[in-house]
Amino acid sequence: MHHFEHRNGRLYAEDVDVAALAGEIGTPFYVYSEATLRRHVRVFATAFAGADPLVAFSVKANSNLAVLKILASEGAGADVVSAGELMRALKAGIAPENIVFSGVGKTGEEMKAALDAGIYQFNVESAPELEALNDVALALGKRAPMAMRVNPDVAAGGHDKISTGRKEDKFGVAWDDARALYAHARGLDGIEVVGVDFHIGSQISDLAPFEAAFTKAAGLIADLRADGCTIDRLDVGGGLGIPYGDKTPPPHPDDYAGLIKKLTAPLDVRLIFEPGRMIAGNAGILVTQAIYVKEGEARTFLIVDAAMNDLIRPALYDAHHEIQPVLLKENAPEKLYDVVGPVCESSDFFAKQRALPEFRAGDYAAIMSAGAYGAVQASQYNTRPLVPEVMVNGDKHAVIRRRPTFEEMLALETTPDWLS
Ligand SMILES: *Cc1c(COP(=O)(O)O)cnc(C)c1O
Repeated sequence: MHHFEHRNGRLYAEDVDVAALAGEIGTPFYVYSEATLRRHVRVFATAFAGADPLVAFSVKANSNLAVLKILASEGAGADVVSAGELMRALKAGIAPENIVFSGVGKTGEEMKAALDAGIYQFNVESAPELEALNDVALALGKRAPMAMRVNPDVAAGGHDKISTGRKEDKFGVAWDDARALYAHARGLDGIEVVGVDFHIGSQISDLAPFEAAFTKAAGLIADLRADGCTIDRLDVGGGLGIPYGDKTPPPHPDDYAGLIKKLTAPLDVRLIFEPGRMIAGNAGILVTQAIYVKEGEARTFLIVDAAMNDLIRPALYDAHHEIQPVLLKENAPEKLYDVVGPVCESSDFFAKQRALPEFRAGDYAAIMSAGAYGAVQASQYNTRPLVPEVMVNGDKHAVIRRRPTFEEMLALETTPDWLS
């Protein structure tokens, strides 16, 4: 459910007219709906009412401070994967005791920053990382609360590049090594074993891999407890897909919650979720304007002013995004388009052979479901300014990241003195 819909032929973001916004901000830009963000966090709160789970928003999906502030005000925590994301989460007012730290390559400095902040949990992904965390904690005279990210070896995730829970993936420790590693961790004075963690992939479209992973995790928790470990928490990662409009829709969050409740109720653990896409994906769109309609020899290209540097998901993951005209025209004939950006790469496209109502140069288009893994992955390739982000709330809107000037873009660069 989201709050982007046409009324009398005009696209609205909540009660804000998107075409009017485009005139004010200048395309391309992202628009996020505050009501949609709030609604998605509440799905967890409602489904697990009474159980007090930690919903740690995966900051990498959308790290804008305004987004984080909104989620924090709903009681969400944060799942961070770098010192920078930790800094953002703290700055947005997320309490350290609601922050978990994931990722395969945490540096000693990042561990120190997180220990100083007093975060809730480190999700450790390898034996050498466990040693490093122990060393950093001991040097600070602290104990690091630790869950091991175990790899349940289930195939999940909508695309090879976003599957994380198979043996071949770089994430987590091998299932068969987990018990021995936990036994070792228990003997480390800088480590406090608190839980078990997994995250099997992203854009997962059916419940079977979750069920397989939860079932395996339940078995592991029983084994670890028999070994004498205190396991109070189970972090089930993120990964629930959202409908992008191409394939069969993913499971409803209520069904996902039902499955988790059923399988985890006997475990007596506090649940931690790390949803990213499910919270932010449908809460954002990318608004762009057609520059040219180019009749190629074999295709018609709709050349828009957004590009792969603004939204890389189609190029990186072959992702499907719905594309809608911002202003509907009556009786517009459908045409087949390749919707492409101006960047000098053949992979710079948003859709191929997509049937859309006829577009003319100057028309605005909305690339839907762009709130997660959109703006965060933007770059300045082709010296294109980072795309602005706008938040709407009812009929109000605010720019939450402005477009940099060219001077700002060049400000970090200097010419060696032998060239001047
Ligand atoms: C990316 C990631 C998430 C969020 O995944 P979504 O598919 O966006 O829900 C959660 N946990 C970890 C460890 C991740 O790397």
